[in-house]
Amino acid sequence: MTRICKNCSFENQDDYDYCAKCGTPLIEGLQPKQVYVYRREQPEINKKALVAAYIVTIFLSWSGFIVGLLAKNRMMATFTFFGFFMPFYLVQSRHPTLRKHGLIMMVISLLGVACSFYVMLH
Ligand SMILES: [Zn+2]
Repeated sequence: MTRICKNCSFENQDDYDYCAKCGTPLIEGLQPKQVYVYRREQPEINKKALVAAYIVTIFLSWSGFIVGLLAKNRMMATFTFFGFFMPFYLVQSRHPTLRKHGLIMMVISLLGVACSFYVMLH
């Protein structure tokens, strides 16, 4: 169970009385908290940039495989290694959410590389 903030839609742990992100009370009747709003020093993630990073990663890591498969051109499959560019950049981020997405992209790239290797070796 999570308590979703009415103000910012942040998912708080169910034992939180105030939103961890914006300080809005999560229980009705509770006075807004002005003093102890805890803000982590984390920049907001640009969601569009994140989606673009996913598209670039999927495109780079899988197009080599698909083109290699369709064109029966094994050299095209080496293109797939460029798919690691974005995840390698993201996993070095200091932002935990970006690191998490970097790891997901790393898995996507690894699958693409694995498929490309299959094309190259068969
Ligand atoms: Zn909130």
